[in-house]
This record gives sequence, C-alpha cells and structure tokens, in this order.
Amino acid sequence: MKYVSTRGAALGSFSDVLLSGLAPDGGLAMPEVIPTVTPAQLEAWRALSYADLAYEVMRPFITDIPEGDLRTLLRNTYTEEAFHSPEITPLTPLGDSGLYLLELSNGPSLAFKDMAMQFLGQVFEYVLEARGERLNILGATSGDTGSAAEYAMLGKARVNVVMLSPHGRMSAFQQAQMFSLQEPNIFNLAVEGVFDDCQDLVKAVNADADFKARYDIGAVNSINWARVLAQAVYYFRAYLALNLPAGAEADFSVPSGNFGNVFAGYLAKSMGLPIGQLIVATNENDVLHDFFSGGTYHVRPADRVAVTSSPSMDIGKASNFERYLYLIAGSDAVQTRGWWDEVGQSRPVALSGTPHWDAVQASGFRSGRSTHEGRLRTIRAVFDTYGRLIDPHTADGILVGQGYQRPGVPMICLETALPAKFEETVQEAVGQTPGRPARFDGIEQAPKRFQVIPNDVQTLKDFIAANLTAREPA
Ligand SMILES: *Cc1c(COP(=O)(O)O)cnc(C)c1O
Repeated sequence: MKYVSTRGAALGSFSDVLLSGLAPDGGLAMPEVIPTVTPAQLEAWRALSYADLAYEVMRPFITDIPEGDLRTLLRNTYTEEAFHSPEITPLTPLGDSGLYLLELSNGPSLAFKDMAMQFLGQVFEYVLEARGERLNILGATSGDTGSAAEYAMLGKARVNVVMLSPHGRMSAFQQAQMFSLQEPNIFNLAVEGVFDDCQDLVKAVNADADFKARYDIGAVNSINWARVLAQAVYYFRAYLALNLPAGAEADFSVPSGNFGNVFAGYLAKSMGLPIGQLIVATNENDVLHDFFSGGTYHVRPADRVAVTSSPSMDIGKASNFERYLYLIAGSDAVQTRGWWDEVGQSRPVALSGTPHWDAVQASGFRSGRSTHEGRLRTIRAVFDTYGRLIDPHTADGILVGQGYQRPGVPMICLETALPAKFEETVQEAVGQTPGRPARFDGIEQAPKRFQVIPNDVQTLKDFIAANLTAREPA
C-alpha cells in the first residue's frame, strides 16, 4: 500500500508516514485506495480475538511489515494486562434503550486514545530498531493525547516525548497523570495559552525543516495515520459483537474534537462495515456541528475556544477534517488544497448548494452539540437509570446520540474516558466521586516533573536543543 498527501504529494509506505507528521506539502497522509471487506470476510472475523481482528483490518494498509511481525506487534499491544479486560473493548447495553456503551477507556491512561497509542508505542520501537533511527515526539495535548502518548512511550529506548499542554487548563487528575511521570525520556511543557496555541507551536517547529531533521522530530498527535487506522478496529469489533443479521446497520455516536475518532468510523464504513449514521457530538465548541448542520466550515481562532467541562473536545479547528473532505471530494487533492488555502486564512468554506454537499449528506454523518447543563443531566440520568457513572465526554455522545436513535437500530456510544479522569464534573452531576483504579490512588500528591513556558517558538526550540541530542552532521 502506497500513501499520498491530501494535497497531492506521494508519501511512500506505512512506515514512512508513521514516522512523519504533516506531509511536506502541508497535507495529511491517506492510503492511495481504501480496501474493502466482503460480508463473508466480516462474518469470519466475528470469532477472532481483538488482536487478530486488528491484524485483519489493518493488514491491507501495512504491507511493508512482514505478516508475522505485524501479528506479533498487535498481540503484544492488545493484551488483558494493558486493557484490563479479555475483550479489550467490551460492549455494554444500557438496559433495553437500544443504546450501547463501547468501553474504550480501560487502558493505561483511562481514555480511548490508549487504543491507538499503545499500538504506536510498539510499532515505533519496531520500525526505529529496524532502521537504526531515533525519534523525538513533539506533541500538543488538551489532556488525553498527552497522557496516552507518554504511557505508550515510557522507557522506550529510541523515543523521547516532548509534550505541550495548555497551562492550567487540564483537570487536576489529567495533570497529575502526565506530570507525575519521572522517566527521563518524558518531557512535559505547560504552555501559557490554549490548546490551539500548543498545536501552532508544534506546527511552527515542524515548518523549520532543518531543525526538524537535526532533532529527529516526529509526531503522535491526532493527525498520525497509524492512530486513525488503529481506531477503525473497534468499530468492527463493536459491530460484530452485536450479532446482527447480515447487512443490518448500526449507528455510532462519537464525542468529537479533532475528528480523528469519528473519521476512523468513516474509514470502517468506507471499507464496507454496515454503519448507518456516524454522529459527530460536539460540546460548546461546535465548529463541526456548524458544518454538518449548515454546510459551512469556519475555524475559530484560539481566543474564541471556550473552556468547557469536556476539555478534550475544546478545539477551534479539527485537524483530521481535511481527510474527510478529501474523500468527499473524490480524493481530489487540487480541490482539497483550494479549500485549505481558505481554511488556512480563517475564511469560511461553504459547501451547501454544491455537489460536495450532497456527498456530505450521503456519507451518513449527523451532528449535535451539548452544553454543560446537558452533560450534567445526562450523567445523572444514566447513573439513576442504569447505575453506571460516565464521564462528561461520553455524556456528550449519549446526549446527542439519543436524538438520532432509529427504531430497531442499535446506537453505539463511544466511552472516550473513564469518569475518574473528570471527577469534579461527575461530582457536580451526581454528588459523589467516581472510583478510580487503585494504581491512581493519591496521584495528585505525587511529585511533579514539568516546566512552564511562554507561547513562543524560540523558547520551545531552545528547550529542545538544550535537552535532546542533535544528529551528527552528515
Ligand atoms: C481526544 C478525545 C475526544 C475527541 O476525539 P477526536 O478524535 O479528537 O475527535 C473525545 N473525548 C475524549 C475523552 C478524548 O480524549
């Protein structure tokens, strides 16, 4: 399988795109073609373990790692030890409501990002070892990406992590999860700004090609193709767990920010998985809901991103959205580049009334937004009715998903974090604190290792130069 940029450049193999961030032309990596599965294949996959299902789903996209090695990597990734459940992603019905909770958050950092990041930790080590290279991961996080990346890369010999997060904008628990890590290959930087500022700093460093090469800078943020691909697996897993008659549809509701998770669902649907609706559930930061309801994509500057009780969805632009519009345009890189020239200048891209808008509507996407009050109400209702505590992101997905339920069609709501990660909001909703896995008891009191930096590219580069080893000049 060869990869191309959404803006047209040829990018090479899976391993090549794995280790790079944005494509040289500013676009995102996409497979040249999307392989499809037959109903018979799908049926045969029902009996597989999670790891072996992951192998079947991902194999056609990863043709440059020997089959046996890929299978071993996946079996080493999706273990009961790491995910605290033999099923890896249990699917739990909420009574007879037709709603299901897809549990994606039982991994090391208690959020769904572990699903992909744990695989990245394994495959990075494998590819770097094979190539005799090192990688310094520079990333931006609004909370969950950072901890998932750091837990995945802990102690990996050929990898360092430099993680930027918006200073003072994460929950106490999220902060403690990341900042308590003492391993010397993990560097936490708290930036005086919002998440989009962090993301812009990462982009600015990546735009300096010399610096990037000298320090072996790479990415694990949500644009990484391997993450999207790994996330497609649990859509298959959940669908198969329902045991529906052949061809019957299921709907998915996905708490969304950077559009990586729900895009993985779209990838699964494009491969032939019978997904009906893909519901993009946003919080008050509703650029995506604006698009799917009105046809105009208009990114918001960092200072117009609201701080909400579902902080992992507090975004003003959705970094994976370009992948979706690229497919909507029929893989037309010229069209995509035209749109993103506008997006790059913060101008609206209006599709309503065009053939592209028809394609959007035919793609199965629906959307909605939640407010703080709505999320609290949903946490309370789910707790009172089903005795189950959920986190505010998951509540957003359930709230919006309920509005799109169809008779007889299962609505699978993705549990993107455990309530323990967002104790304050859960406490506000139900008047009690959710339990947390024993390994996190008292983590807020653990010694912290992090540094505050201003929102400034040069300061970041100086930090990297002072703490990481540069490549020998050729
Ligand atoms: C990252 C995250 C999201 C948003 O996922 P995207 O792939 O960025 O759309 C939602 N909920 C939680 C808990 C997250 O960590």
